[in-house]
Parts: sequence; C-alpha cells; structure tokens
Amino acid sequence: YAGKNAGTSVMVYTPSLDRGRAERLALLADLHVALEQDELQLRYQPKLDLSRGAVTSVEALVRWAHPALGPLTPDAFVPLAESTGLIEQLTRVVLSQALQQCRAWQDAGLDLAVAVNLSARNVNDVTLPEHVAGAVVEAGLPAHKLILEITESSVMGDPERTVPVLERLAAIGVTLSLDDFGTGHSSLSYLQRLPVRELKIDRSFVRGLSLPREAQASAILVRSIIGLARSLDLRIVAEGVESAETLDQLRDYGCDVIQGYYVGRPLRAEDIEAAGPFPVLTRERGP
Ligand code: C2E
Ligand code: MG
Ligand code: MG
Ligand code: MG
Repeated sequence: YAGKNAGTSVMVYTPSLDRGRAERLALLADLHVALEQDELQLRYQPKLDLSRGAVTSVEALVRWAHPALGPLTPDAFVPLAESTGLIEQLTRVVLSQALQQCRAWQDAGLDLAVAVNLSARNVNDVTLPEHVAGAVVEAGLPAHKLILEITESSVMGDPERTVPVLERLAAIGVTLSLDDFGTGHSSLSYLQRLPVRELKIDRSFVRGLSLPREAQASAILVRSIIGLARSLDLRIVAEGVESAETLDQLRDYGCDVIQGYYVGRPLRAEDIEAAGPFPVLTRERGP
C-alpha cells in the first residue's frame, strides 16, 4: 500500500487486521441495506418517576436483526455508523420510528415521553434542529414529548459549535438530557451553560453502590452529583438500577427518576403497552 502518507508511516500487514477490515466493510454494506429496508428495531426502556410512582417516559434503544449474524446490540454497529457518517441516517430513522410509536401510544391513551440517544456527530450537525422540529410536527406531537439524550464528551469536543445546536433544540421545546454523567470531563462552568433539563447518573456509579468495596466512595460520588444537579435545578435520573435496595437508597438521596433492569428491561413497544404505567420486572426478548 502506498498512500499519500507513504514514507511517514508503515502499514504492517497481518491477516487478522485484513480480516477485521473486510468484516467491517461487509457489516457497513449490510447496515446501508438495513437502514433502507427497516431492519433496525427499537426497544423501549421505562424511566420510573418516583414522585408520581409511574413510568412517564421510555428510552428508545436500537437493535439490529441482522439476517446472518442474528440480533445485534448497539455496541456492534453504532460505533461503525459513527465513524462512517452513517449515524446521521441512523439517528433520523430511530427518531422517526420513536416519534411514531410515541404518537401511537398517545392515541391509545398512554401518556409517555420518548427519549432518543444522539451521537457526537449529531450534536455537531447544524441541520439537526430543523430536522427534529419537522419530525415532531410530522408525528403530530408537542415537542416536549421528545427527550434527546446527549453525552458530555459529545458536547465538549467542540462546544462553540455544539452549544448553539443544543440551544436551538431547547428553543423548539425538546427536553435535553445529559447521559452517562460523570464519565466525561465537563467543567462545572460549562454544565451551567448547557440548556439541559435532565442529568443521568452513569450506571458505573449506581453499580458501585451495591459493591461492598466501592459502596462508600460511590455513595459520596452519587450524593455530590445529586447535590450539583439540584443546585442547577435539573431532573435527576439514575441508570442501571438493578435492585430494590439501590432504588430505595437513590430515593433517599433525592433521585427523581429510576431506570434499570429492576424497573424494566428494554421492551418491545407492545410489551410497554401491556405493562401499563406501573413498574414491572421484565426480561428482554430477542428481536
Ligand atoms: P445508554 O444510552 O447509556 O443506554 C443504557 C444502556 O444500558 C442500554 O444498553 C441498556 O440496555 C443498558 N441497561 C439499562 N439498564 C441496565 C441495568 O440495570 N443493568 C445493566 N447492566 N445494563 C442496563 P444498550 O441498549 O446496549 O445500548 C448501549 C448504548 O448504545 C446506549 O447507552 C447508547 O449510548 C447507545 N445507543 C443505543 N441506542 C442508540 C441509538 O438509537 N442511537 C445512538 N446514537 N446510540 C444508541
Ligand atoms: Mg441513553
Ligand atoms: Mg446512559
Ligand atoms: Mg451508556
């Protein structure tokens, strides 16, 4: 291989590297097809509002029923979509599907907001706010039915560019949520500048609460994140809650919303309807 950087770097040939590359290219080609042919499916994970004792929103999580490889979780293809630009199309497909489902629930008398995850590339896309506004109108929903989950690191990469995108999204009336909080490195001054209304404490800290050797340190961390979020008037969500004990502890600390396997697995849309507004213990079924 002699690309334009030949001489400054050396590509070492290994069969495994080659195979990895071929596999990625094949998966990428399949993903193009999947996006055209609606092979992507959504699961919805409940978010339990403690003050209301009811599930008031669900998070859309993408799954791919790959014809040969079987069901794939996002870690198998979202990073690939992100590194190739296909994520813009993926996000639009997920957004439209999630909003249509939200509208169907509303028509069936189920009042749920829906949360959609965004990637770094999406929050750098200045055309996103206009697209989101159009998608919400097309679904016939008020904008506050949509929550967009963004991560600290995706915002902090180029805040000069991303903050205006977020501000336009917030101006539409969409709720912005800071996902996986605590794993990034946002400065507190920036947090104050972001038009977010919700903060999700990362699963790793929540998990630590139930690990004997980490419990004390995790409790200190979780309580200080909650204190910080409170002072910024943010709704506080804990993700990855797997037991009644952890739920009770987080309630005592002042958490507003609980998400995790204890409340509910990511479910098919019809199973969300069957479960109704109250928490249930459930198992995720394959695609
Ligand atoms: P996330 O947004 O932080 O979603 C939470 C992940 O944790 C989900 O994994 C969920 O199934 C899992 N989870 C929820 N509760 C528990 C629990 O109690 N215990 C444990 N061990 N795990 C729990 P999933 O569905 O594999 O998604 C992984 C990540 O992929 C998501 O993290 C999100 O960053 C990304 N992702 C998912 N769907 C989309 C999408 O439509 N677009 C984009 N851009 N990213 C997505
Ligand atoms: Mg999320
Ligand atoms: Mg998360
Ligand atoms: Mg995560």
